Amino acid sequence: MGICPFAGAFADQVITRGGYDAVVATTLCDQMRRVAGALEPRLPVPLFLFNLPSTWEHEGPERLYRDELARFGLFLSTLGGIPPSREKLANQMLLYARARQRMQSLRASLTGTSFLAMLAHFHENGPTVKGEEYIPGPRRGLPLAIIGGPALACFHHIFQFIEERGGLIVLDGTDTGERSFPGPFDMDRARDDPIGELTKAYFATIPHPFRRPNTFLYSWLRKEIPERDVKGVILLRHSWCDIWHAEVMELRKSISLPLLDLELNNEDYDGAGISCRTANRILSFLEVIE
Ligand code: SF4
Repeated sequence: MGICPFAGAFADQVITRGGYDAVVATTLCDQMRRVAGALEPRLPVPLFLFNLPSTWEHEGPERLYRDELARFGLFLSTLGGIPPSREKLANQMLLYARARQRMQSLRASLTGTSFLAMLAHFHENGPTVKGEEYIPGPRRGLPLAIIGGPALACFHHIFQFIEERGGLIVLDGTDTGERSFPGPFDMDRARDDPIGELTKAYFATIPHPFRRPNTFLYSWLRKEIPERDVKGVILLRHSWCDIWHAEVMELRKSISLPLLDLELNNEDYDGAGISCRTANRILSFLEVIE
């Protein structure tokens, strides 16, 4: 009771799935911190808790992030991992950067539902994603942005429902969507100092409401919303997520567009489709914008 469904699903998977040598969690929110604390004594393998600084305006937090990356590398070595050379790490970064570029170059020809499927493949399998197989044909509909927490399977039903009812998701600002792409790498610097370049591209770039101050998030929205001609924004909020909940008022003030604050409920997560309440709220929102 009272657990965010994403954090809960993470805990369930860790406990039931097995077949892994370690568990990695971050301190991004209280829920994940608590889940990590509750899991650790029950796990047969080590758990690494990555300290993710929320502040960013001074050098200290960036240094801490960099140190955490190095500490994570050491942790992997204790499990038998072999530290890569700088060249090898930089090449791996390039591989991922190219996969993200490939996905971004296809974005304008994909519906939000197909883009979500492509992202799921990327998150699960890494840079093997090709992309062309996700292009379903012409895109039409009312351009919308979706922002919010990380995608679970229920997001697929919701994206599909929206796009079958006349919406077109042109911007995926969920925690697993385009907003979570790091900035571009400078490959010369990456070959010299890959950890430093990873820190810049991830810590200094990715916008998220947990950052303090969270101005990156709003500058990202101010840039992306007009570029994609977005007419309305849907906030998909996992219940018990204080971080996104706290953002609702500020989002209403800042984006000057209709905003649907959609807190998901239990029936949305059962895998069978979406709840009547969620469906009705989406339909009313689409009607209002039209
Ligand atoms: S959705 Fe919110 S509460 Fe859940 S893990 Fe993410 S930040 Fe934490």
